[in-house]
Amino acid sequence: MKIVMLAPPGGGKGTVAEKIVKEFGYPQISTGDLLRDEIKRKTEIGKKTEKMIQEGKLVPDDIVLNMIRARTSEKDCKKGFILDGFPRNIAQAKMLEENNISPDLVIQIKVKDERVIKRISGRRLCRDCGEIFNIFFKKPKKEGVCDKCGSETYQRADDNEESVKKRLDIYRESTAPLVEYYKKKGVLKEISGDYDTIPPVVEQAFKVIRES
Ligand code: AMP
Repeated sequence: MKIVMLAPPGGGKGTVAEKIVKEFGYPQISTGDLLRDEIKRKTEIGKKTEKMIQEGKLVPDDIVLNMIRARTSEKDCKKGFILDGFPRNIAQAKMLEENNISPDLVIQIKVKDERVIKRISGRRLCRDCGEIFNIFFKKPKKEGVCDKCGSETYQRADDNEESVKKRLDIYRESTAPLVEYYKKKGVLKEISGDYDTIPPVVEQAFKVIRES
């Protein structure tokens, strides 16, 4: 099954996708993680996109599409995959269709703006394994240290107030129209992300996958 996670920044796409990976075995393809890795490795793509990402802007469609095409053609994606962060606009959704990788299921996580802003301001990532923590809702046992691998945690460069505002605007203008787009195609399922803990959101996601 090809699944798309659709949610505002801080909406829980990455966290829920991670749980789906464990339960159903589909690989998670996060364009944000792929781009952050390019930046970390100082590649041409990383150098070209670092500033745009830091400012909360979308990077050019062709860059992300090439990443998606390469990653989805790998062996582990044969039975399906979870797209986390792609498509971000209608043009990208059409690119998926042109490449014969249209989703069978789109999970929309609905979350109120106030919650998203608080979540983003508390979000911390592990520098090595990418595990997601939150100083309000999911604190690491030892401050600044990843529970999973012991490496340092950090705050994303684009998790600052100005970039978050920009990312929320982009979500409303460019990404939210995908809700209607996929509703018309009959593949959209809405779940609520308005919880302080992860299990109730994950439970709803598992339910819609099992019913699809
Ligand atoms: P995320 O980790 O999904 O919040 O993505 C972080 C940032 O990476 C976004 O704010 C964009 O700058 C960039 N990005 C991720 N996915 C895409 C995409 N599909 N199209 C364009 N830019 C993207």
